[in-house]
Amino acid sequence: MVLARKYRPRRFSELVGQEHVVRALGNALASGRLHHAYLFTGTRGIGKTTVSRILAKCLNCTGADGSGGVTAEPCGCCQACIEIDADRYIDYIELDAASNRGIEEARELIERAAYKPSVGRYKVFMIDEAHQLTRDAFSALLKTLEEPPEYLKFVLATTDPERMLPTVLSRCLQFNLRPMTPQAVQEHLERVLADEKIVHDTGSLRLLARAARGSMRDALSLADQAIAYGGGRLDEAAVRAMLGSVERSVASAFVRALGARDGAALLAAVDDIRQRGQSAAGALEELAMLLQQMAIVQAVPGALDSADPDTAEATQLAGAWPADEVQLLYSLAIHGREELSLLGDEYAALAMVLLRFLAFPAAPSGALSTGPMASASTATAAPEPSVTKAVDASHDEPPPWLDAPESEELRPRAAAGQTQVAGVADGVPALHPTALGERWAALVANLSQRGLIAALVRELAMQSEWLAASAGPQGARWRLRTERESLRTAALRDKLQAAIVAAQGEPVELELVEGAPLDTPALREAAARARAQQQAEQTMTNDPVVRELMSQFKTARIVPGSIKPVQRNPSA
Ligand SMILES: [Zn+2]
Repeated sequence: MVLARKYRPRRFSELVGQEHVVRALGNALASGRLHHAYLFTGTRGIGKTTVSRILAKCLNCTGADGSGGVTAEPCGCCQACIEIDADRYIDYIELDAASNRGIEEARELIERAAYKPSVGRYKVFMIDEAHQLTRDAFSALLKTLEEPPEYLKFVLATTDPERMLPTVLSRCLQFNLRPMTPQAVQEHLERVLADEKIVHDTGSLRLLARAARGSMRDALSLADQAIAYGGGRLDEAAVRAMLGSVERSVASAFVRALGARDGAALLAAVDDIRQRGQSAAGALEELAMLLQQMAIVQAVPGALDSADPDTAEATQLAGAWPADEVQLLYSLAIHGREELSLLGDEYAALAMVLLRFLAFPAAPSGALSTGPMASASTATAAPEPSVTKAVDASHDEPPPWLDAPESEELRPRAAAGQTQVAGVADGVPALHPTALGERWAALVANLSQRGLIAALVRELAMQSEWLAASAGPQGARWRLRTERESLRTAALRDKLQAAIVAAQGEPVELELVEGAPLDTPALREAAARARAQQQAEQTMTNDPVVRELMSQFKTARIVPGSIKPVQRNPSA
């Protein structure tokens, strides 16, 4: 017999984690205050049907000697108890509304309600997934639900009470079943496996309890599968392989790499789980779990279970991270899950989600300020007090993708700025187009459109010329030439590099060199604008109507600068 069925609770005292429901129902049954309709809500696998069956036994139990009445503690050995447990009691009717949702089924039920119980004290109708009943079916049931005969009790169960009609809700006594904590599930699994004399380790139970997501039924089903998978025993490695879950060491590798602002180590960790075929979603989930534990340690030191082998590491990492950065990364990890499927390659998407954290400036002080960002800031700053100040200034910079890329200051300097650098011919910046420049412009446009670069990082990309690509020890090495010194910082370079890596899904190392670029996306845009302007002016001055006007009105002039080319949507 499968564990989930064998260990299905048969009395309220066996129901784990639903004490509030057990107490309320127990008191009502013990004092004889019976309601005629009950509604149990909660996620799937949480025990709604189980509670309903126990309730049906409470109502119909006759006790071992046949003289018992309604009770909060059914005997388990009378006809009612045995038959309800075996799902063959004639007066207990379970209806799955997901497959019996129409008016016909409702009418049939009402017809059956007209007859007194055959063997029991009460007839109990249990309608599972009740929110799935059609409106007509509900309307048909409503009268019976309002004024049921003495002997009839309704139990409705739903995963989605929001979709129940208010008129129905108001007629039911409602109980919300709660998801079980992983600890409660783990303890229960421990008892079950001890009972079954199945060899197991704590690590495997922890994984199963976590994967069950609050459902004891799922935990027991998973345990059954894992026992079969492990050849009659449970061990952590086998359970992990079966569940496809990601090891805690991967999550801590992410946290360490991000803490050190070490993009290469981060990408190596992502590559590692790719190689091992572990799921990207699982990696984010494990990361979120670790961060959650770190946050708990920070808020309430000593609150974590010291027997849990993960606790020591979470505690150690918590000490090295500012609380707000833990929260930030947690939020990125949780929300990043939805993004994984948007890109064809889930691991590239995972890298992107994690690299996003690096797009935020490092904390001003503490364990994190050892990465390239901080060293870039400190390198240019005077020693002593101004070091903190310089880093602080970078801390005030908003996250790049929140910054408006169109702010005047940050817009690619078209005419004026570049013309001095590259030379001017008739107001058109000297652009010396190259094949690499063409590819670079396309890549930058793509990064920009996808929101991977913005503000100063975008400015660096726009103002750079791609000189060369070569194979380096860490993957491809790209050399970019940029004139403006303020853009040639390690921090901006790293962010641009991260965006390119995320877009390409392959390691790329950027090198910035000084010099006047001859082919940048900004120069290309300026040249295109100048061409459009010239064309517009030419079109205007050659226009027959304009010529006619000019010849008729000797004082007519075209105001310089008043001709503007029509803006075309770049994506059109
Ligand atoms: Zn009984």
